Amino acid sequence: MLTENPGGYNFILNPYPTERISRCPLCEGKTGQKKIPLLIHVDPARLIALNYTCRYCGPCHLLIGHTHEIEHHMTEAFRHSTPELIGNRYLVMGTVEKKYWREGLTEFKTPTEMIDHTTTFTDSYEDIRLHRPGWYKDGQEQPVMEPPPSCEWVKVESELENE
Ligand SMILES: [Zn+2]
Repeated sequence: MLTENPGGYNFILNPYPTERISRCPLCEGKTGQKKIPLLIHVDPARLIALNYTCRYCGPCHLLIGHTHEIEHHMTEAFRHSTPELIGNRYLVMGTVEKKYWREGLTEFKTPTEMIDHTTTFTDSYEDIRLHRPGWYKDGQEQPVMEPPPSCEWVKVESELENE
């Protein structure tokens, strides 16, 4: 069973590679860093625990991950073993107890055990968008900046399928 919170972090996935989020999007305070194992579910049925350095805002209990970095780490993790998973939909579910994650490096843990030691996020914002900066007239809407598409986490047509 997933531990339904209290104590869960909030989580934002930042889709803009050039945006470093040095200030918290919620309170505008300066962000720091926190390295913490994230549990990610990849369709159709794979869990991966990724020890990842998030941007972090203490007062908001907020972790911020960068989409392109997380996708890079996942691509590296799957490249040899299960490349067919690369490009699949995925969901960052929560944080894994650090001690337990460390044990998992040397001992096999079942997905159920892993989930038992995971705290899901209290609030998760998967789809944040920035507005294009600039001057706008009253009533004129700031256009949304579309994030660039994934460059590594994309489906590769297997050669078998092309034959
Ligand atoms: Zn904050």
